[in-house]
Amino acid sequence: MKTQVAIIGAGPSGLLLGQLLHLQGIDTVILEAKSPEYVLGRIRAGVLEQGFVDLLREAKASARMDMEGHVHEGFSMCFDGRQQRVDLKALTGGKTVMVYGQTEVTKDLMDARAATGATSIYEAENVQIYDIDTEHPRISFIKNGEVIQLHCDYIAGCDGFHGVSRQSAPKDQIKTFERVYPFGWLGVLSRTPPVADELIYANHPRGFALCSMRSSTLSRYYVQCALTDNIDDWSDERFWDELKSRLPENVAKQLVTGPSIEKSIAPLRSFVTEPMKFGRMFLVGDAAHIVPPTGAKGLNLASSDVYTLYHAMRKHYQEGRSDLLEKYSDICLRRIWKAERFSWWMTSILHNFDDDEFNHRIQQAELAYYTSSEAGLTTIAENYVGLPYEAVE
Ligand code: FAD
Repeated sequence: MKTQVAIIGAGPSGLLLGQLLHLQGIDTVILEAKSPEYVLGRIRAGVLEQGFVDLLREAKASARMDMEGHVHEGFSMCFDGRQQRVDLKALTGGKTVMVYGQTEVTKDLMDARAATGATSIYEAENVQIYDIDTEHPRISFIKNGEVIQLHCDYIAGCDGFHGVSRQSAPKDQIKTFERVYPFGWLGVLSRTPPVADELIYANHPRGFALCSMRSSTLSRYYVQCALTDNIDDWSDERFWDELKSRLPENVAKQLVTGPSIEKSIAPLRSFVTEPMKFGRMFLVGDAAHIVPPTGAKGLNLASSDVYTLYHAMRKHYQEGRSDLLEKYSDICLRRIWKAERFSWWMTSILHNFDDDEFNHRIQQAELAYYTSSEAGLTTIAENYVGLPYEAVE
């Protein structure tokens, strides 16, 4: 088998990159370890920055998002018994975010790719990467018991945090930076109307809480939990009681509860890989970096990586500009570290760290300080809607 760009992973990064390159006449093959149903069963992000929305439109996979997605012009931060709205639109000169689930984005991209007839191989086992430091990289994988070789010009490693791509980078060339947080997020999806029209982030002595949504009938709620907690420790009743106890009284009173249709615990981590290019292999999205979900940046950072690689590839194949591929890491990392900072900051000011009362007082002061001035609110808003993408030139 032969292609121009071999893409490992059919998450949002791989599918979006594949679709954009295909529309430019660049041939791609996507290799995915799991089945499409398994990929679509994962409940993850839901807040899309404008940059992601624009890229999905460019990929011609935005029709359903444009119909069913909800534009949000603000969100709230609750602390010290009060609720402060961050007016994204007013503070950023008209910018907003789109609430539309990652599962739906992935489904739309899968459908768009299927319609183009481009090759995607699901349930590709034992994917192995070879010769990235030569002009002829190669991937081997097993499909239906048969070992298949895929020859390509470039490899895009879009296979998430646990994928094979980052593991295949030469050990003496890769440097990683990591912070693991001493708590997790317990998330519940329920077929209930959201408690509010906009997201609510809550700092409470009992721990962080987030009221989010996927649609007007589907809610996503989170509470900070211990890393040692097990899903079985959390009955629906316990979850709703805990969530209510962390929200301002007027919000808790409005909360409509119901049976959970998905419940999971996710650890929180900050992680960055430098560089993101190794010979002819590029790391994209979660394969290269992780943020704690507090700033809603994970999926959006994947999108800015895709934007950079897509334009560098397009100009390479269409204009012979190979220099831009060399700049991929530097361009991506400048934006990644800023999003890492914002995600770390949001996590630091909103969670309960080891019941440390001094820390809690500092958090209250910091939240009060930032939300009491237009300058403070603006810095939160401009990071939340997403910092601009750097031009690839
Ligand atoms: P992924 O979505 O991880 O996709 C990688 C794909 O590669 C997968 O389909 C995987 O099966 C495949 N793969 C892995 N290994 C191999 C292999 N060896 N061979 C072939 N294929 C392979 N972000 C937010 O912004 N907000 C949130 O609320 C949020 N919540 C999250 C909750 C959870 C539990 C998790 C795990 C993440 C969350 N994120 C959130 C982060 C966000 O979902 C990710 O940033 C996003 O999925 C990154 O997309 P990706 O395509 O780079 O990686």
